[in-house]
Amino acid sequence: MAKIQMTTPLVEMDGDEMTRILWKMIKDELILPYIDLKSEYYDLGLAYRNETNDQVTVDSAEATKKYGVAVKCATITPNAARMTEYDLKEMWKSPNGTIRAMLDGTVFRAPIIVKGIEPCVKNWEKPITLARHAYGDVYKNTEIKVPGAGKAELVFTAEDGTEIRELIHNFTDSGIIQGIHNTDKSIASFAHACFKYALDTKQDLWFATKDTISKKYDHNFKDIFQEIYDAEYAEQFQAAGIEYFYTLIDDAVARVMKAKGGFIWACKNYDGDVMSDMVSSAFGSLAMMTSVLVSPSGVYEYEAAHGTVQRHYYKHLKGEETSTNSVATIFAWTGALRKRGELDGISELVEFADKLEKASIKTIEGGKMTKDLALITSLKDVTVLNSEDFIKAIRATFDAM
Ligand code: NAP
Ligand code: MG
Repeated sequence: MAKIQMTTPLVEMDGDEMTRILWKMIKDELILPYIDLKSEYYDLGLAYRNETNDQVTVDSAEATKKYGVAVKCATITPNAARMTEYDLKEMWKSPNGTIRAMLDGTVFRAPIIVKGIEPCVKNWEKPITLARHAYGDVYKNTEIKVPGAGKAELVFTAEDGTEIRELIHNFTDSGIIQGIHNTDKSIASFAHACFKYALDTKQDLWFATKDTISKKYDHNFKDIFQEIYDAEYAEQFQAAGIEYFYTLIDDAVARVMKAKGGFIWACKNYDGDVMSDMVSSAFGSLAMMTSVLVSPSGVYEYEAAHGTVQRHYYKHLKGEETSTNSVATIFAWTGALRKRGELDGISELVEFADKLEKASIKTIEGGKMTKDLALITSLKDVTVLNSEDFIKAIRATFDAM
């Protein structure tokens, strides 16, 4: 059979550890035999980020802006331990943080639902999509470890020199302070992305912050959402039969636990980071969560929601067998290929993506899965496969289809 042809390259961002191993297996077994892959390759593995002083991350984000669609492998965000492990020149920033800041996007995460993996929350019947604001707040913070007694102030100096000054705290002893920011422009993009995604997928939109405590910062998010909703989306939402509502983050958490699912939950950057891990774990496995960064200019970056699965990688390095779930990384590829197909009008690419996703789900529902799923499935007589055999099993299902 002739391979599917592409017209525009996909930006391919390779990554680290176990997911880098899976990346190659997925390409070799599930992509390259069927598609004449056009990709612009960027190696975001930590060693090469260090070698290029992280320039490769910036270049990959620029390429994503140029071509419109990227697929990204999980990458290490360096900490103190990684400094020694990889002999780093600097503790490089999180590549995801850098890319998100450059694309000013919103991250949408949704669980992949399969029969036999029931959510821990028994009333969740439909997926809950998390929309995470991907710019600013604590991810762009400035911190000071206060050495001892003294006065901490928040100062804004306007271009004309006028100052706004607020006391943070009169320290009598050592402590800590942190400065964070966001911009009205980025919050507005976040709001537009959420309203559009809700209309696209015909789902209600929930948004929550802590505006009762954070009376200016969080309140600003609430106000911008409401203004944009009233001015541009209220009628469309009504016509689509969907709802937008704002509530406090603690109320939202309580309601989410009692809901049936089938809605989008918009969260500020940090809330989205934490809540998406909770929602994905409760739906079954972190390895069954898709993630896409959508920028206001219509640029898409697809990835798995989980990390580089370090523990499995160390086993792999010792020559031991691993059973690492590749589904979220496969869905990152299918998401990107489908979007490329839609943008370039290549229906074969869209069909390929749909079929590969179905084959992945069918393989699991047929009882063949990795250990993480075998531990939680309600299916009987399952076969636990290693990382490579699971990908081969998906290929066999795909070929049979
Ligand atoms: P992780 O890689 O997501 O793994 C945490 C644990 O979750 C694993 O040890 C494993 O549990 C389970 N798990 C996650 N993905 C799995 C999969 N595909 N199949 C089977 N089990 C899976 O998180 P981490 O260990 O906290 O972080 C490792 C590295 O990833 C860090 O350097 C971090 O900076 C990076 N990270 C990157 C991204 C990203 O690029 N988007 C996101 C998060 C973290 P068991 O060990 O119990 O089997
Ligand atoms: Mg997280």
